[in-house]
Amino acid sequence: MKRYKLKKPWKLVTVLFVLFLFALSFCIYKSMNRATVNSSKTNSEEVTNPQNLGNQVINPEKNYENKPLINNDKSVPVLMYHSIGFEKGNELRVPVERFTEQMKFLKDNGYTTLSLDELYDFFNNNKPIPSKSVVITFDDGYADNYTNAYPVLKELGLKATMFVITSTIDKNSGYLNSSQLKEMQNNKISIESHTVNHVELDKIPYAKQLDTLKKSKDMIENILDNKVYYICYPVGKWNNDTLKAAKQAGYKMGFTTKNSLSNKANGLYTLNRVRINASYGITTFKKVIGN
Ligand SMILES: [Zn+2]
Repeated sequence: MKRYKLKKPWKLVTVLFVLFLFALSFCIYKSMNRATVNSSKTNSEEVTNPQNLGNQVINPEKNYENKPLINNDKSVPVLMYHSIGFEKGNELRVPVERFTEQMKFLKDNGYTTLSLDELYDFFNNNKPIPSKSVVITFDDGYADNYTNAYPVLKELGLKATMFVITSTIDKNSGYLNSSQLKEMQNNKISIESHTVNHVELDKIPYAKQLDTLKKSKDMIENILDNKVYYICYPVGKWNNDTLKAAKQAGYKMGFTTKNSLSNKANGLYTLNRVRINASYGITTFKKVIGN
């Protein structure tokens, strides 16, 4: 009887201790479980948050600085310049001061200049681009594109494309030479084809069209060791043979001189461009690029 009375309080203490341990481990388990739920919630938010997803979908190497993006049913201004210099009454020669003002406007107003590869990815693969995107192109390959336009583009860090007439390269001092082309290619300027002799393509048969499209492409590729995928038709002239020949020769897009914004609905081989005339002040410039 005496022993039994002594043992009972011990049993009670043991039971209480076991209950306490059980409650403590239950609390620890609950708090650990809550932490796991929270961390998995954070992960799932990261995956489904459209902003994060958006950043992943765009090109990971190319961040458009969180600018508002658009998809490929929208139009893009592809600016068309020729010579950058001054000649009274010649609308195709844009004075360098005017050109500089226009480029500064693009830079200061948050425009993104696109390469033609980026424009192609937008039109053909629906890779989003900033809503304020613009493409800068020059036709014919005049030497003043190097002396007057290139320093401005380089200083402002803008991309551009030059469509060159390949028979003039290293043959005519009024036009770009191969060392200028190489230097510019290394500084965000891509060099593309404007045929061998600037012949109006709709005036010659299919075989000759194919020949000039292929030869000009090969020549630029050999000089610059870089693929040429874009063609600009001399004087904006083309016919159905031109479109077939351009595809056959390996071009991915073709440009006309039709004065309008560029839209994939026009067809990738007949894209419009916005003509920039010498007489355009900054107000007209803003209007024609759709600002
Ligand atoms: Zn031309």
